[in-house]
Amino acid sequence: MTIREISSYAAGEWVAPGEGARNIASAITGEVIARAGNAALDVQALLDHARNTGGPALRRLTFHDRARMLKALAQYLNERKQALYDISFDTGATQKDHLIDIDGGIGTLFVFASKGRREMPDGQLYLDGEPEQLSRQGSFQGLHVCTPLQGVAVHINAFNFPVWGMLEKLAPTLLAGVPAIVKPATNSCYVTEAAVRLMLESGIVPEGALQLVAGGLGDMLDRLGCQDVVSFTGSADTALKLRSNPNILASSVRFVAEQDSLNASILGPNAVPGTPEFDLFIKEAAREITVKAGQKCTAIRRIIVPEPQVQAVIEALSARLEKTVIGDPRLEQTRMGALISNAQKRDVLEKAAIIGSEAERVFGDPDDFEVVGANTDKGAFLPPMLFHCPDPDRAERVHDTEAFGPVSTVMGYRDLDHALELANRGQGSLVASVITHDPEVARAAVLAAGAFHGRLYFNDRVSMKESTGHGSPLPHMVHGGPGRAGGGEEMGGVRGVMHYMQRTAVQGSPDMLTAIGGRWVPGAAEIRGPAHPFTRRFGELQIGETLHTPARTVTMEDIEHFAEFTGDTFYAHMDEDAARRNPFFPGRVAHGYLLLSFAAGLFVEPDEGPVLANTGLDGLRFMKPVSAGDSIKVRLTVKQKTPRNEEYGEVRWHVTLTNQDDEKVAEYELLTMNAM
Ligand code: NAP
Repeated sequence: MTIREISSYAAGEWVAPGEGARNIASAITGEVIARAGNAALDVQALLDHARNTGGPALRRLTFHDRARMLKALAQYLNERKQALYDISFDTGATQKDHLIDIDGGIGTLFVFASKGRREMPDGQLYLDGEPEQLSRQGSFQGLHVCTPLQGVAVHINAFNFPVWGMLEKLAPTLLAGVPAIVKPATNSCYVTEAAVRLMLESGIVPEGALQLVAGGLGDMLDRLGCQDVVSFTGSADTALKLRSNPNILASSVRFVAEQDSLNASILGPNAVPGTPEFDLFIKEAAREITVKAGQKCTAIRRIIVPEPQVQAVIEALSARLEKTVIGDPRLEQTRMGALISNAQKRDVLEKAAIIGSEAERVFGDPDDFEVVGANTDKGAFLPPMLFHCPDPDRAERVHDTEAFGPVSTVMGYRDLDHALELANRGQGSLVASVITHDPEVARAAVLAAGAFHGRLYFNDRVSMKESTGHGSPLPHMVHGGPGRAGGGEEMGGVRGVMHYMQRTAVQGSPDMLTAIGGRWVPGAAEIRGPAHPFTRRFGELQIGETLHTPARTVTMEDIEHFAEFTGDTFYAHMDEDAARRNPFFPGRVAHGYLLLSFAAGLFVEPDEGPVLANTGLDGLRFMKPVSAGDSIKVRLTVKQKTPRNEEYGEVRWHVTLTNQDDEKVAEYELLTMNAM
């Protein structure tokens, strides 16, 4: 069998393994299948290439350009994923595991692509929130703006998800406009290398935006500075070692850590055998033990159940685990493949022995189990193992020992407070789940345990069909956790992009802030356009372009007509005495919706033109009542423009209604789609 040479992609060149390269064995056969690493790799050249070539190229693009790039990458990989499946089996992963790793990674790219287009501007600056009024007259205001860091993101990944682990970090990084150097765990780097090769050959990513280090990073961390980020996933020990690098500390290099975690799953107090929640709990727990042979940072390590249910849970779970076919992951009947390596297997057995000092093994014997289609002694196979800890209060090690394999411990609780206290003894986890149909239990869990867990997952008979699983981090939601879990956070949509950007507080006049942010700030100069803004195409409209309408007097006949026509005969519009008794009204007042309709009547240009549709209205506030005899007029200003496609884009208009005394009576943002 030929041994594959796994190269790094450094400064525009593929660099083959060299001095100090490590052998990589197949998880199934234990035979060496690949080699990676080169101690002579010029790490400074990688950093320079990212900073001087990749970064500037990415920063020239807008968020929408970069989002389109992610989508194209996702499509490119999606069409070629079979090649990645084929080589992933050697990591011990089954076809089902590939769906999590490879399809999950591609799905993450798609979600970030969509979020980038929908939730970020077609510009180079991201505005975080609305302006802050810092002065009485509004001539001095503040805005928070985010710009891409001008360095490089170094992504250090764990072995268990060679594709997803890379893409869940890469998507927000590239969307931010920051180049990445990806360093996969050596044991599974051949899968990552194949994915990187595909991405580079696609020609979709600008040169320098994506580099790969197969093997060690040398002294790269010593060479990072204030514009760089390290995003690490792996064990707590390695995280501690890397984050305490003196240069990382001295230069305040951002260090995002996703570490190991003693995740818990709690069976709700009322979820007794016979309820849908009990069955669901068993199903989820069994899945978390066996998927990826338990090598999942989010896997359930502690199964916390009401004391009277301990026996029933052990029996039901054992019956389910009994059906797990262990073997060559290529075989269709295999439900659980191998661990990544024999070293990992030894590590899991050592950790299981530690857990065994406080808990009894009630299912799974590592010395006696069946493996189909592979050699038990050569491959890194283990059976699912279930422990029972009779005294979780006195126990220590079951709460702090992560056996990164198919190992989990059942423990009983007296009441809900006790269950949550036990869950929190993991000292910070990525996820805890509570399987309950009782919303009060869920609320209590969030209050008592939220601070200890990055994600809380509730599941019951209502959500079980569509729920995504205890163990699945989703690109829309944050992934990370406090304390033991690393104290970091990734993904969570646009939140995850911010880890690669600097948030800067910008202060100045409304004109300054409008020019900086490309979004009109109230108080900034108004622009008089050459014609009615509704006659102007998306590309012609300028930020700040404003229309002032003539005034219209609101009469009692208008109010009554509107009331009868719409059926809205609420007393404040119809009954003078009742309206006066209301603390908000001087007497009968015009309907807010009447004012909105009159406003539209005042600013609309009726002829067919570039305004295609009114798609909504945001932030509507009625500030002062309008009585019969008052008059209203409208100021309509282009606040923001967001292209949607080749044909049209969204225009956000700032609309203010004022009365005859120039007092604001209503304010809102109107959204229209305008032809390009
Ligand atoms: P690991 O041994 O800590 O390795 C993680 C990464 O760090 C690998 O890429 C490794 O590279 C690299 N590394 C190790 N020493 C280094 C050094 N001195 N300088 C630079 N890089 C170094 O973890 P693992 O065994 O791959 O993964 C299993 C652990 O990861 C488990 O504890 C699991 O809970 C955790 N995990 C957490 C998450 C999460 O999202 N929180 C996800 C998956 C896994 P080499 O392989 O080349 O040594």
